[in-house]
Amino acid sequence: MKSLLQKARTEFENFFHYQPQCFVRAPGRVNLIGEHTDYNDGFVFPCAIDYCTVIASSKRQDNQVRVLTVNFNENDEFSLDKPLEHSKEHGWSNYVRGVFIHIKELYPHIAGLDLVICSNVPLGAGLSSSAALEVSIATTLKKQFNLTIEPKQLAKQCQKAENKFVGCNCGIMDQFISTLGKKDHALLIDCRSLETQSVPLPKGISVVIVNSNVKHGLVSSEYNARREQCEEAAHILHVNKLRDATMDLLEKNKSKMSDVVYKRARHVITENDRTLKAADALRLNDLATMSKLMKQSHHSMKNDFEITVPAVDTLVEIIENVLNEQGGVRMTGGGFGGCVVALAPTEQVDNIRQAVEKEYESRSGLKESFYVCHAVGGAEVINAS
Ligand code: ADP
Ligand code: MG
Repeated sequence: MKSLLQKARTEFENFFHYQPQCFVRAPGRVNLIGEHTDYNDGFVFPCAIDYCTVIASSKRQDNQVRVLTVNFNENDEFSLDKPLEHSKEHGWSNYVRGVFIHIKELYPHIAGLDLVICSNVPLGAGLSSSAALEVSIATTLKKQFNLTIEPKQLAKQCQKAENKFVGCNCGIMDQFISTLGKKDHALLIDCRSLETQSVPLPKGISVVIVNSNVKHGLVSSEYNARREQCEEAAHILHVNKLRDATMDLLEKNKSKMSDVVYKRARHVITENDRTLKAADALRLNDLATMSKLMKQSHHSMKNDFEITVPAVDTLVEIIENVLNEQGGVRMTGGGFGGCVVALAPTEQVDNIRQAVEKEYESRSGLKESFYVCHAVGGAEVINAS
């Protein structure tokens, strides 16, 4: 963190030739359990991780916004006096512009800023660098213009920016956890009521994330197909969303749907149930039950929702063999590649790393990326003095 802060400060001084007034931080995240449940109005259970985006900023006397991202060493400039348009040149700037628009919608008095963005969240790896960027911009605006915006509202405006301005149809999980995360806790989110509960993680546990580095071209078409299958199941079951269905109801109506639609619904119904049970297990410090639930979740994603790929299954198998029921591991994220997440006793982390280094590449032909994380708090202003 300190080095990110230092880097943001130095880059700001080099680029703008004066000192920044304010620093904020917003974290990336990983979802521990609850996959493809969000758009079914169900439950998700992420934690914020100690990979973060830091923004250094200073107010200007006019309505210009100048922004540099250290990650791409690119900069952009726009005026708040005109309707904001998509940046054709810099895709990343649309996240910045989108947040300015959707915060300005509520607080028209926001004005010009100079900004430097500096992040160590891996970009596009499924750890939500996009939400970390949006939430850090919104938190900067909140601090610099004394906005009274509540954390959940701030997160919703960031989601709007990603949905409407960037054009990515994400749920609320990423922005909520980046805003509301609590140190050493995971956050149970009810995607219907938007109520949240912080749940402590067991002591002595590390959150290990391993990126399979599988590149898959079909992610969005497969995602849309799953959404449609879930809607079809809800329609047949006469429920608003699969959140409202039970396994009993599904079994009674099994003959009315295709085998594929049945399996998709079974995943969502059982995954919602597992997610609630996972929060209960962690509240009781019961890592054994949590581990079983993670294993069942992976199994359900593999066989019922059919969103895992062989390389990801291999990673899970390698880590499972090390953990030997002392911790849990599953694929995390939308599927067809991406990361696996493990909750592992800290003393096992080196063994996991060694096993993955030894076996994954030779079995899959791919080289992994390995991240050892701890749950951190959500977005905040940093006192950098
Ligand atoms: P993820 O959120 O899983 O990292 P996304 O595709 O949703 O992946 O978001 C990644 C995109 O977000 C990047 O391609 C870039 O446009 C933008 N982004 C995230 N962090 C930064 C950053 N520090 N600087 C510039 N752009 C960023
Ligand atoms: Mg994202």
